[in-house]
Amino acid sequence: MQPITNHMPTAELRALDAAHHMHPFTDAAALEKKGARVITRADGVRLWDSEGTEILDGMAGLWCVNIGYGRTELADAAARQMRELPYYNTFFQTTHVPAIALAARIAELAPGDLNHVFFAGSGSEANDTNLRMVRHYWAVKGKPEKTVFISRKNAYHGSSMGSASLGGMQAMHSQGGLPLPGIVHIDQPYWYGEGGDMTPAEFGLARARQLEEKILELGEDRVAAFIAEPIQGAGGVIIPPETYWPEIQRICDKYEILLVADEVICGFGRTGHWFGSQHFGIRPHIMTIAKGLSSGYQPIGGSVVCDEVAETLSHGEFYHGYTYSGHPVAAAVALENLRILEEEDILGHVNRVAAPHLAEAWASLADHPLVGEAVSVGLLGAVALTPDKATRAKFAAEPGTAGFVTRERCFANNLVMRHVGDRMVISPPLIITPGDIDLLVARARTALDEAHAILRTDGLLRAAA
Ligand SMILES: *Cc1c(COP(=O)(O)O)cnc(C)c1O
Repeated sequence: MQPITNHMPTAELRALDAAHHMHPFTDAAALEKKGARVITRADGVRLWDSEGTEILDGMAGLWCVNIGYGRTELADAAARQMRELPYYNTFFQTTHVPAIALAARIAELAPGDLNHVFFAGSGSEANDTNLRMVRHYWAVKGKPEKTVFISRKNAYHGSSMGSASLGGMQAMHSQGGLPLPGIVHIDQPYWYGEGGDMTPAEFGLARARQLEEKILELGEDRVAAFIAEPIQGAGGVIIPPETYWPEIQRICDKYEILLVADEVICGFGRTGHWFGSQHFGIRPHIMTIAKGLSSGYQPIGGSVVCDEVAETLSHGEFYHGYTYSGHPVAAAVALENLRILEEEDILGHVNRVAAPHLAEAWASLADHPLVGEAVSVGLLGAVALTPDKATRAKFAAEPGTAGFVTRERCFANNLVMRHVGDRMVISPPLIITPGDIDLLVARARTALDEAHAILRTDGLLRAAA
């Protein structure tokens, strides 16, 4: 076979892709008809495809390229580490410097007494670790009946059996017999979509109190933990009302259950803090990390664990681990990423420049006839599409129809913006400049205009009854 390179005609690359490559979260037949977009290189906040088209990446890859593309320091760190020690494990009473240094650095950055890191290869793996670790923790404490995890509908915690069960995605649960037993879901704090006539403050309290009701229903002696993203990412950038997290914290403090904050998206500067928990004043016992930990340059994740849980687990063996736990190359790259985030004061850029600029520019989309709300925290943003702004109505069409049309218009205007149902979401690299934020919002507005026209022509602007 001839070598396959960037220089091959796009059509040939697409044909080989369709023949041999199974894509995640993709309808393969639909993709084959259309042909995948082939991304060939990237720099800063921009991608280029095999046709030479320049695209603004409003999603930082999959919520992960926090420092932007093209940082050769990370490539150098990987090459150095590969030459010195490309692989060694951390099982059997061994360790290596990249894993030591990264764990120590994460402990320094993490709030409170979250001083211990169990490494994984991804966010999904880290949440699987959490599931097993928390159950084992309670067993060691002499409470083996405390096994149930309470999570939320429309949460995303990963795609493996355990993490997809922790997640609350109905479509995912409909395949493969999920969720696993011992995982239950309460409603999400999504005021715009589900708040009805309540004020956001009332609604936030009501949704938090579902946690207390669920604990009382199951019995405190059976509940192991509550897991949640500070801001739901893949669920549509759902920013909870201000009353929500303090009430969740009160309930977790009152009953003897662990709080697991899934920081895979919110961590490493996305909200302007090192961790989203700090934005909301949450005090988790465990944090899940991945994505921005390495800015996506290497696959790595982990569980950041508080002193008490780590101490409890330290007597006797926890029969769990991954071949690539603390992989030296991934750890070296993550360390270099954290160095850049700190030394270039990228959080300062988010807080003083990018987030305030985005907040204002993004909010201006709220006047668009198709937009019901336009919200952001840090460099996470969402707009809710609606056929009727006054009533926050949903569309009569199948959920996601308007979102899909809008996403297609974004692509056509060289902007990557995702849709989650009929919400459009952004999560650009943290290094984005005010000029590129303006460009992003201008392209989003053009896409909304075009989508609005298409939806009207197709008779899809009707509200659900
Ligand atoms: C992406 C994501 C995960 C899963 O991480 P993977 O690296 O894809 O396994 C878990 N939790 C949240 C909040 C995520 O956004």
